[in-house]
Amino acid sequence: MEERLAYIQFLGAAGTVTGSKHLINTSSDGDDRKGIQVLVDCGLFQGQKEWRARNWQQLPIPANEIDAVILTHAHLDHCGWIPRLVKQGFKGPIYATAATIDLCGIILPDSGHLQEEDAAFYNKIKKSKHEPALPLYTFEEAEACMQYFQVARVGETKQLNSELSFRFVRAAHILGSCMAEVSLSTNGQSRRLLFTGDVGRVHDHTVAPGQVVHSGPQEGESADLLVMESTYGNRDHPKNDPRPELAAVIRRTVEREGSLVVPAFAVERTQKFVFMLKELMESGQIPRTPVFCDSPMAIKAVEIYLKYESEYSDEARTLINKYGSPLEWPGFTFASTADQSKKINEVHYPTVIISSSGMVTGGRILHHLAQRLPDPKNTILFIGFQAPGTRGATIKGGAKEVKIFGDFVSIRAQIATFEQFSDHADPSELLTWLRTFRGKPAYTYLVHGETAASSQLRETMSKELGWNVQVAEWMEKVAVK
Ligand SMILES: [Zn+2]
Repeated sequence: MEERLAYIQFLGAAGTVTGSKHLINTSSDGDDRKGIQVLVDCGLFQGQKEWRARNWQQLPIPANEIDAVILTHAHLDHCGWIPRLVKQGFKGPIYATAATIDLCGIILPDSGHLQEEDAAFYNKIKKSKHEPALPLYTFEEAEACMQYFQVARVGETKQLNSELSFRFVRAAHILGSCMAEVSLSTNGQSRRLLFTGDVGRVHDHTVAPGQVVHSGPQEGESADLLVMESTYGNRDHPKNDPRPELAAVIRRTVEREGSLVVPAFAVERTQKFVFMLKELMESGQIPRTPVFCDSPMAIKAVEIYLKYESEYSDEARTLINKYGSPLEWPGFTFASTADQSKKINEVHYPTVIISSSGMVTGGRILHHLAQRLPDPKNTILFIGFQAPGTRGATIKGGAKEVKIFGDFVSIRAQIATFEQFSDHADPSELLTWLRTFRGKPAYTYLVHGETAASSQLRETMSKELGWNVQVAEWMEKVAVK
């Protein structure tokens, strides 16, 4: 049998952008060596039904045989399956940065709450008398799994056993996000693996403005084997600064006495947009218009951001030093209770309303859109990706009406879209970053991309860098030699 140090098995985010889960196993088939089994990320499959069905499947190895989880960041497609893993018997440490742990503390229970709501909804509409629909995990189960989290500081080496250690380096994707450098050493041989998680925008404040966290992933990396995301593998972000056009859209909306409704994820995208509004107001590019940030989770996320000053971008630091906490900025209202949220419906002067969910699949944004979509004075502003099949994609795509709370709501508001706010590096940014590597990895596996995106990036990397690149397949096992 060929000598190998370990294998990696891609249990998610292969052929799709969700469900990130990569198993490192150092035990070899055919001998009794008891190695270590570590999951890098433990994300939820999201989107279409065939993907979501995978959330209900068993892992190829029992959860209680997994020794540890290394978590790159707090997005649900990277952490959202942790409560399920714990429910199935996992009891090991989950290593993450302190900021990631804080964010998971709000994101995972919220996910449990949504799972319970979904199950209750299916039970209500179900006509047959089959088994009742169950949540993947509950709010309580998500809260309970937080006890397994352990802080790993950026740059600190964690030795998990005699064969495997790892350390986090900055990914600059969202607050707390990191890449995981994993070192393996077995039988006198050692190899270095790099798991990128999601890679943030590479340094450039003009094309990627409004960063709340410092920009640019750790440079000068080296790896024998690289597992890299490829979300934007086949499309570049627009390179123009979106701020002048954004300011113009807001000014026009205010001039016709309309309001701006912005569906945005509560974590990162909302903060980024709030910071940008403040900057545009203070520099006189837009009028001082009341801003309502309608999401309890966004408030908690701001509180977490304020704890981690060392992660701020220069722009965010300047703004906070000058104006203090966004929660106390005059003219900015953060609604936490349902009553506060409903009161926003009574506001008829020009205003900016930012609410989630980001793809209009649920949440408080539904109330705001039901009320403001039919009025042509208003503008609906999209600053994030809208997955096919979501209400967000329908509205963005120019439909004349959309179903909300069982009724068709006519769409007469203006629709504006900005693609520059992405937190993922695009192909040219990835190449810029990869060129800082201190050598070619022997193997690169692309994950976390639709097939077309991953395949295109593989071609680009082979051509531009001459690297040996493969697109990972779901459940595929690859050897670390
Ligand atoms: Zn992410």
